[in-house]
Amino acid sequence: SQTKADPMRVLVTGGSGLVGKAIEHVVKQEGGCLEGEQWTFLSSKEANFVDLQQTRAVFEKYRPTHVIHLAAKVGGLYLHMKENLHFLRDNLRINDNVLQTSHERGVTKVVSCLSSCIFPDKTTYPIDESMIHNGPPHDSNFGYSHAKRMIDIQNRGYFAQHGRRYTAVIPTNVYGPYDNFNFENGHVLSALMHKTYAAKKEGTPLQVWGSGTPRRQFIYSLDVARLFLWVLREYDEIDPIILSVGEEEELPIKDAVEMIADALDFKGQIVFDTSKSDGQMKKTASNAKLRRYLPDFTFTPLSEGIKKTCDWFVNNYDIART
Ligand code: NDP
Repeated sequence: SQTKADPMRVLVTGGSGLVGKAIEHVVKQEGGCLEGEQWTFLSSKEANFVDLQQTRAVFEKYRPTHVIHLAAKVGGLYLHMKENLHFLRDNLRINDNVLQTSHERGVTKVVSCLSSCIFPDKTTYPIDESMIHNGPPHDSNFGYSHAKRMIDIQNRGYFAQHGRRYTAVIPTNVYGPYDNFNFENGHVLSALMHKTYAAKKEGTPLQVWGSGTPRRQFIYSLDVARLFLWVLREYDEIDPIILSVGEEEELPIKDAVEMIADALDFKGQIVFDTSKSDGQMKKTASNAKLRRYLPDFTFTPLSEGIKKTCDWFVNNYDIART
């Protein structure tokens, strides 16, 4: 058990992924770790959280006082559509095992990770934190979305019944080093970085799927990581908080493609394949709540984050998830 003066022992589930690696960087390279604190970054190799015994064993081993819960079964659009039940059941189990084991072991704070893609499909804009449960999510990933929504319900329950301060953040589209750069299963920016890199090497045109006109808010993984540390240390609400750049920074994918071409010095032709689906035309989320708490937080400009991510990808091609 922990007294107020004891330093934190933080367990980060999903510590080997895009967001986990960014938090590790901020903790170890940017002075995010305070004296005496112990931080552990887990990959699924050390514990599979679908399994309760493995979950309990890893909590027993590290005895965390705080948990950042990132581990999730995630996939590309097509895998989600094929296996919605699988995404639902695995994520329900992962989340219940992590939250209930945290409670049983007296963990004082858990910060979990929801996603802006779990919001109702039919909605008004901008989307804010109060709208999560207002209507069904998009059909393509209903399994993943409902499992994520239940984290918010559980957080409410742990507070109501046990006074636990378990909360969650809702990032918009995250990009950065250690992302999945796979053409089909990767996130839009990292897949495009990989495609641009390949087109340059092969001297072929860059084929972008869709018209390039849908608008998105992109957030650099290191900004997400810095905000996660603030939520862990300062944010006291049970209700979740959206981590996003402002509404005015939602921009057409086409603009991001140009930044990627610049960053990778790609001079070839860019073709927009309009036979491929565009997805939602916009998903504007409000960062008003975040701005009320942190009016002065500076987000990494998209062109700068893209340049850093492209440089990382080129220099780490061998270890990148492609
Ligand atoms: P990644 O796919 O990069 O990482 C997923 C992490 O979860 C990996 O560390 C993986 O471990 C771990 N994991 C997966 N399944 C299990 C399991 N059964 N048991 C234990 N660990 C497991 O994801 P991100 O970093 O992108 O996402 C982190 C969180 O942020 C997720 O909860 C995601 O839903 C959320 N999110 C992400 C957004 C984005 O744009 N990327 C946007 C909004 C939310 P290993 O690699 O070792 O298998």
